[in-house]
Amino acid sequence: MSATVPVSLPAPARVGRLGRLWPQPDAAWCPGWCRAGGARLWLGLNLAVMLGYLGLGCAVGRFFAAYGLFPSPIWLPAGLAAVAAMLGGWRLAPGLFAGSFLVNAIAFGSRPELAALISLGNMLGPLAGATLTRRFRPATGLFTRFGGVIAFLAGAVLLHAGLTAMGGTLAMWLLGDAPPQALPGIFSGWLLCDAGGTFYFAPSLALWLGVERTPSAPQGAGLRLLDGSVWLGTALLALVVFELDLPPRLPSAQLVFLLAVPLSWIALRISLRAAYSLLTLLCVIASAGTVAGHGPFQGEAVDNPMQSVGLLIVLCGMNILTLLALVSERREAELALAEANHLLERRVAERTAELRRLADTDALTGLANRRSFLAQAQAALQRAAGAGRPFALLAFDLDHFKAINDGAGHAGGDLVLRRVAECCMARLRRQDLLGRLGGEEFAIALPETDFAEAEHIAERMRAVLASIRLPAGAPAEHLSASFGLALARAGEARLEDLLRRADAALYAAKHAGRDQVRVAG
Ligand code: GH3
Ligand code: MG
Ligand code: MG
Repeated sequence: MSATVPVSLPAPARVGRLGRLWPQPDAAWCPGWCRAGGARLWLGLNLAVMLGYLGLGCAVGRFFAAYGLFPSPIWLPAGLAAVAAMLGGWRLAPGLFAGSFLVNAIAFGSRPELAALISLGNMLGPLAGATLTRRFRPATGLFTRFGGVIAFLAGAVLLHAGLTAMGGTLAMWLLGDAPPQALPGIFSGWLLCDAGGTFYFAPSLALWLGVERTPSAPQGAGLRLLDGSVWLGTALLALVVFELDLPPRLPSAQLVFLLAVPLSWIALRISLRAAYSLLTLLCVIASAGTVAGHGPFQGEAVDNPMQSVGLLIVLCGMNILTLLALVSERREAELALAEANHLLERRVAERTAELRRLADTDALTGLANRRSFLAQAQAALQRAAGAGRPFALLAFDLDHFKAINDGAGHAGGDLVLRRVAECCMARLRRQDLLGRLGGEEFAIALPETDFAEAEHIAERMRAVLASIRLPAGAPAEHLSASFGLALARAGEARLEDLLRRADAALYAAKHAGRDQVRVAG
């Protein structure tokens, strides 16, 4: 399944002031193969548009003319023009004008000035129609929302056909090729044949060229065979119904509307491209058979059998376009919901991590709080015991902190606590863990640390704290603290025991006069 992804053009070509007023090949409508193209590509595309317009115009015109139906009831070159305007905008205008001019002047023998005026309309109509359609095109693709389908009908089909019909009718009136009373008939016939040609042909061409994309349904090999059979079977059924004269007992005129069913199947099960290509083929088969006098739409009471063909194709086309747009809208909504869920899950995870961090942290100093410190130190002690590595625990309590609070105020006391945390953190090794056990009592877990090193660290910490100046009002100029150091015994894995011994040593230090390190026995 692939969704239409808006792409960007490398560099806009210089198009002049007039060019800027008209649709340019833009990000939405420029498939990969034409995005990096230079002047040579656009020259080639202009030639292709000209020859395509000429070829389709001659084929369609001559075919219908052979049955005395000219101007033709369906003008397929209009579909080519609509897609060229979407793909290249103003850049493909020369090809459109030249193709239309050649068809009118050379193939159908119109006077050059009449052919030129008609071709002007045939060039400007699709460009204006594409501009309107592009204005309302959904970002995910023209046919992926119902609004996009309406934009296609309003711009690429109706405005386009209305302007080409207007241009042609005016040209004939201005150059005296048609009397005023014939103009409404000429205009409406022209509009219907251009709108029909665009509606029947443009979506298939746009989807095949990659100008527009719609998601395809994912499917297995077995289903592909089934879907392919339905596609082929529908085309064969259309051939039988429209090209053969079936016995009148068969209700072929009614049966023919059942073609909408396999078309919907194909649109939903394969892709819009597969369904619309079949629809274009059905249009050709039905038009050819009906014009040749075969098929279900003939009869005494029928004034114009091609109108029935037109209605059938419009019914089937609108059906598959609407179906696919609605299904795509639902898929988009499902995707948006999944994305919102994903975002919500991420936010919850972030919030949970933040709450966990807050639950583990002492708010005043930013150190690990008692619960978190004990859990981490316990894990570190267990690792050390398992690996037979040394482990030491240093507990310390600030001396006469109550007096500091009393003298410097509670805020002054807080400041001292924060300074203690900062100074200790700055001097610890990476593997050491500092925590605030409560009040003015701290502990440092020292993994991979033997007795001599632990004692050295304890003395260094004592000196560090002693260097902290107390705030004004405190009973002394510098801070002091009492330390209790305990070393894990071989295989000792309970932090509780180690902490109890460190505490005992700490209180021994207090009793011995404070501002000193005592080692647990
Ligand atoms: P010693 O030398 O025996 O340890 O005496 P001390 O005054 O330090 O000990 P004591 O346990 O009597 O007093 C601790 C004080 O710490 C009492 C309490 O108000 C204060 N304290 C506890 N937590 C905080 C805190 O977060 N901020 C401040 N500013 N003071 C605190
Ligand atoms: Mg104290
Ligand atoms: Mg205390």
